[in-house]
Amino acid sequence: MSSSPLTFTPVEAISTTVQEMRTSFKQGTMRDMEFRKQQLKSLLAGLHERETLIADAITTDFGRAPQENVFYDILPVQFEIGQILLNVDKWAQPDKPALISDQTAFLMSSMEVRKEPLGTVVIIGPWNYPIRLILLPLVGALAAGNTVVLKPSELAPHSAKAIESLVTEYLDPRVVRVVHGGVPETTELLKQRFEHYFYTGNGMVGKIVAKAAAEHLAGVTLELGGKSPVIVHSDVSDLGVAATRIMWGKLLNAGQTCVGVDYVLVHRSVKDKLIELFLNYIENAYGRLPQKSADYPRIISDRHWQRIKSLLDATKGTVVPTCDDQPDQADRYIPPTIVDNVAFDDPLMSDELFAPVMPIITYDSLDEALDYINSHDQPLALYSFGSNKSNEYVFANTRSGGALANDTVFHLAAGNFPFGGTGPSGVGRYMGKYSFDTFSHHRSVLKKAIAFPPPSVDSLRFPPYQGEEN
Ligand code: NAD
Repeated sequence: MSSSPLTFTPVEAISTTVQEMRTSFKQGTMRDMEFRKQQLKSLLAGLHERETLIADAITTDFGRAPQENVFYDILPVQFEIGQILLNVDKWAQPDKPALISDQTAFLMSSMEVRKEPLGTVVIIGPWNYPIRLILLPLVGALAAGNTVVLKPSELAPHSAKAIESLVTEYLDPRVVRVVHGGVPETTELLKQRFEHYFYTGNGMVGKIVAKAAAEHLAGVTLELGGKSPVIVHSDVSDLGVAATRIMWGKLLNAGQTCVGVDYVLVHRSVKDKLIELFLNYIENAYGRLPQKSADYPRIISDRHWQRIKSLLDATKGTVVPTCDDQPDQADRYIPPTIVDNVAFDDPLMSDELFAPVMPIITYDSLDEALDYINSHDQPLALYSFGSNKSNEYVFANTRSGGALANDTVFHLAAGNFPFGGTGPSGVGRYMGKYSFDTFSHHRSVLKKAIAFPPPSVDSLRFPPYQGEEN
């Protein structure tokens, strides 16, 4: 949280940077798979050598513990590169679709689906997991053979600077470039032609990115957010484990996690006990004075702090004391906050909270709770704690980007598992093979024999058509 080390890219230099990446792609820089792998290995080496520096940069940006920076930002990228290196040769092989037996016209043909790069792609990242959310798509794009322009978030300037140093020192400049900036620079970047626009952040900017992609009739992936609910059923087998996993999923990054828990829908019979267990978790994790805990992050900006404070002032729910300190604007600190007796129309329920604030809604009828979820935007994640039967009932009767039974957030850690939203929580998916496919064109290549044994089906294809009357 010190002054910014970033120098924004001059607006007039942006089109040249993009053009250089386009030219490099056309020259075939990324054609060779061994070269792509060598780039990924070099990036992996950089991530190991610079692990501490990168973790410290994130801590400087918003006070998150260095251990969390390694666990949630750096390690996942290292793991992803490892998985890609192991599998990319297999993923890059053409698919050979089986011939449908009665399609005699294709008998002397071969069909294959080749995995070809898209071209030059842009990846625009947010501040909240500033390393993983820019480097995870990057490694997929490189594995698939694209050249890339990266735009890290200016709201995490030390992390953005760390990305630039990493890219500059460990990757070939013909392959990736970094553009820094805020709205004017990103607006200029979005005017440029890319073959794919990959954006992570809020939905309002997501629409701007989708329109920019539409101008060029290009592909788009939008990784957005939303209000991800947790349902706690009366038949949950271990409420203690549930409470720990739910509160962890709320307070991780001080609530500023796209798949973080937004609110809890809890069956009346277990509500009081759940709140008691939440309070135990908070005290064990951060003590009575979380502001003094080195493990408790800050809110990213004054604007977001004000937004959260206004919501807390406006709620009609009952604020449950969790600790001994108070919101502190100068420090952009919001303590862990539980709000009980929240109604569906409470201000806390209007938008994604992105805050360490847990609204608790009590339900008697599960269908009523599901009706509430289904009458709002499809969330990025949905969590259900209960028996298999209860969890399956929830999954069968709702829609969401991802769904997780008996835990929160953890589905992001599973390798080769598609990550993405649906409806307003996002468009498209990535991770592992899904990233490779997102950044590849599946080109159908049909090779026919020039000669066809009689009786040729070609005779049916060209006029004059047999048996037709003129
Ligand atoms: P942010 O403010 O850092 O913005 C993200 C990017 O958009 C930045 O690079 C920024 O420069 C750019 N940007 C901002 N305004 C712009 C404009 N007018 N035109 C063009 N570009 C612009 O991050 P944020 O949006 O505050 O991130 C938080 C949101 O992102 C939350 O809604 C969260 O749920 C969502 N999110 C989603 C995921 C996911 O993987 N699905 C991950 C993290 C965050």
